[in-house]
Amino acid sequence: MDTRPGFSQHIFGDTEFWVPERYINLEPKGGGAQGLVCAAVDTVTQQNVAIKKLSRPFQNVTHAKRAYREFKLMKLVNHKNIIGLLNAFTPQRSLEEFQDVYLVMELMDANLCQVIQMDLDHERMSYLLYQMLCGIKHLHSAGIIHRDLKPSNIVVKSDCTLKILDFGLARTAGTTFMMTPYVVTRYYRAPEVILGMGYTENVDIWSVGCIMGEMIRGGVLFPGTDHIDQWNKIIEQLGTPSQQFMARLQPTVRNYVENRPRFPGFSFEKLFPDVLFPSDSNEHNRLKAGQARDLLSKMLVIDPQCRISVDEALLHPYINVWYDEQEVNAPAPGPYDHSVDEREHTVDQWKELIYQEVMEYESSHGRAQSSGSQQPSPAAPNNSEPNGY
Ligand code: AMP
Repeated sequence: MDTRPGFSQHIFGDTEFWVPERYINLEPKGGGAQGLVCAAVDTVTQQNVAIKKLSRPFQNVTHAKRAYREFKLMKLVNHKNIIGLLNAFTPQRSLEEFQDVYLVMELMDANLCQVIQMDLDHERMSYLLYQMLCGIKHLHSAGIIHRDLKPSNIVVKSDCTLKILDFGLARTAGTTFMMTPYVVTRYYRAPEVILGMGYTENVDIWSVGCIMGEMIRGGVLFPGTDHIDQWNKIIEQLGTPSQQFMARLQPTVRNYVENRPRFPGFSFEKLFPDVLFPSDSNEHNRLKAGQARDLLSKMLVIDPQCRISVDEALLHPYINVWYDEQEVNAPAPGPYDHSVDEREHTVDQWKELIYQEVMEYESSHGRAQSSGSQQPSPAAPNNSEPNGY
């Protein structure tokens, strides 16, 4: 392939990475529907970084919209609990040749799927939840309601710091059919998303509740094979919701939901019994287990009108021990242009839009992505910390 000078090639199975020479020691770290993520060392900043390759992000409209939105939002948002962009580039040299986008981020150690398996003590569990809530609150302050938080899109470091990796569903997502070999995980989606209702900010609290419950139980709470199966799993455990809730459903959905068998549900003491909490039950642990269960019982509420809000959760005794005004109420990012979510473009138009975004990023952050002399930067020579991280 004819690529820009100052780039080097790294091959992992059938995936090729072309990155500026400043990045060395590439090692595959994980993969999602969008592409492979590698760990690397940035020789300019001496920092460990993660590099995500978006292969032909414009290959179909769903991929393109997601890549474009993610890139725009990563540029906009700056909060310690949301992944930040350190660099972005394409190895191709023109719009005609344009294929791939690479996003460089701070390297984290593991995703939350791996952490959930561990026996977490109350300190760690409450700190992880606190950081999730801070990140979510920050997204909300920019008008971004995530709706698709899940453990694979949350990453942590061994010092227990946490970052949310993605920005969830676009307002108009959900109807497009995506051809991908990856199964989309829906276990953490709130009832109002599953049932196609309107939603507000506390839709994201449901996902946090599912993650917290999984940390305690050590297994997925509502592992439905599809939306119907998932709804069954929810009502079997939490009970059939009230008439007031049913009344807010669209007629066809309401008809289905009302004709399901009725379930009384279980108490939270039954759903999350004492044995699931740290066993050396000293007074502190007993108190914390009670608080944890109380918080869970306020998050895992089917009717969003009766579910705790993000602000209330941050003030809950299990969480508020970590409360720091700067983290909870960090200045909101610039407003996000939601028309992006509603836009419809052809694949070629998306290709051009994404290419323009990458070019704009490169010129405002220094085009010299290589280790030094090959590509002098017209805009910001040797800019080592592009995004104030
Ligand atoms: P994604 O393509 O963003 O869904 O990421 C896929 C997987 O790659 C995640 O579940 C993580 O295991 C890993 N990953 C992504 N970004 C990072 C990062 N910044 N640091 C460490 N691992 C990451």
